[in-house]
Amino acid sequence: MSERYNRIQFANNGPWAAFSQNEIYRWAGELNKEALHIRVLFAGMSRMNSLGHAQFGMGELARLIGTVTGGEVKARRPDSVSVAIKEAKKRGFIAPESNARCLVLRHHVFQKSTKARWRCPVHDLD
Ligand SMILES: [Zn+2]
Repeated sequence: MSERYNRIQFANNGPWAAFSQNEIYRWAGELNKEALHIRVLFAGMSRMNSLGHAQFGMGELARLIGTVTGGEVKARRPDSVSVAIKEAKKRGFIAPESNARCLVLRHHVFQKSTKARWRCPVHDLD
């Protein structure tokens, strides 16, 4: 892993802000009526590592962006998840190589500072 992932630096030293991954995760999971592609983005932001990869277990994303009725979580159907991911890609929120097991956020928009080493078995990255 290169030094570049240890610190945040956008093109031309442009301004940047930070966000709470815990709060973004909560948003991803609780906004029943929000557009699903936005919740997919939030899900990716909440989980992204220093490489911009956000991994999810089998069916985890479908549950995270599912509906909550009376305290019960109902997972989205796989086709609904696919449509949401496709829309998020179309809008440039996530990279084309994203899928339900790993959402990929672009380095020119999303960066995370950490010295931790990360892998992505979904995209076969070490
Ligand atoms: Zn990945």
